[in-house]
Amino acid sequence: MPALAPNAERMPRSGIREVMDLAWSLPGPVIGLHVGEPSFPTPQHVRDAAVAALERGETRYAPNAGLPALRAAIAEKVGARNGLRAAPEQVVVSAGGMEALYVALSATIEAGDEVLVPDPGWPNFAMATQLLQAAPVPYPLQPEDGFLPDVARLDALVTGRTKAIVVNSPSNPLGSVLDERLAEALCRFADRHDLWLISDECYDAITFEREHFSPGAWDEQDRVLSCFSFSKTYAMTGLRVGYLVAPPPIAATAAKLQEALIACVNVPAQYAALAALEGPQDVVEEMRRTYMERRDAATALLDSRGTGYLRPQGAFYLWIDVRGRSGGDVNAWALDVLRRRGVAVAPGTTFGPTGEGWVRASLATATDELLEGLGRLVDA
Ligand code: PLP
Repeated sequence: MPALAPNAERMPRSGIREVMDLAWSLPGPVIGLHVGEPSFPTPQHVRDAAVAALERGETRYAPNAGLPALRAAIAEKVGARNGLRAAPEQVVVSAGGMEALYVALSATIEAGDEVLVPDPGWPNFAMATQLLQAAPVPYPLQPEDGFLPDVARLDALVTGRTKAIVVNSPSNPLGSVLDERLAEALCRFADRHDLWLISDECYDAITFEREHFSPGAWDEQDRVLSCFSFSKTYAMTGLRVGYLVAPPPIAATAAKLQEALIACVNVPAQYAALAALEGPQDVVEEMRRTYMERRDAATALLDSRGTGYLRPQGAFYLWIDVRGRSGGDVNAWALDVLRRRGVAVAPGTTFGPTGEGWVRASLATATDELLEGLGRLVDA
């Protein structure tokens, strides 16, 4: 057999998989707080739109960059809600936020480049970078900085090979959210070092008691590529629709790349996404409020047990401090807790070395189960 591509072989498997495999293999019931999937059904009008598209026979190829009506609706949405002035030509509809990220990286980096990625951060940032034969360089997000990027620390990580920085707000796994000042400062950091800024905003609609700010709103030099998703906002993870918003020449290149990757996004799913944007938004607000209520119930429980955590300001995860109990190997600790107590959480090291001593619990689980699971975790 010929050799496999080394970069494909080297790409690490997600650390959550080990927890998932063990959870599935256990004989008894497990409370699963390890995955980030909305617990709500996809809204009825969104499902109806996909079915209606199928019934109309909308089962052919569409333009690489997406249905014109959807691109126009997205351009309007990012203008109204994200402060991004974008023409429909600057929007590329993608197969989820993940593919928007991959297209954004494919269009901007090459083999041997370095890409600054958050640590802790969503593992796919490093995975996609490695697939493109570039090197992910983790930038630590630390408790003393409020788990937010620190520009002076970032400056120190830039080398002659650094080509891009990935920023994620609201953050998975931290739930931290960039304020206006930092969103702008990150743009200026990218200007200063002539970097691309790839901004993952897949949780833009889920913030608590504060606003989401898109770094692209401060882009003065056409260097910000913003990735969004319908998956979390509208509880439609399996329909696989996201989008990239980028300066015109980059959007055109990204659309060209789609031909080699997916040709176009599933057309009925694009109609579902259009219905999501054009339909009632109270479903989004209901889900957001539920996540916030779960956050409050969960943090009250942790407070009552004296367990530390980072209070999430967005997304739907809780970052819990188990440094005093996990003995320096949170991965082994999480697997042990799963075996003994039947509760699954994501070990912090899944998200980078800075996650040692922390675990991520998902607020996307029904409240009773969430509280039962957290109770078992703090007693473990
Ligand atoms: N970005 C972040 C930070 C995520 O957590 C996820 C999913 O978990 C995604 C992007 C991609 O989601 P999707 O590809 O379903 O849109």
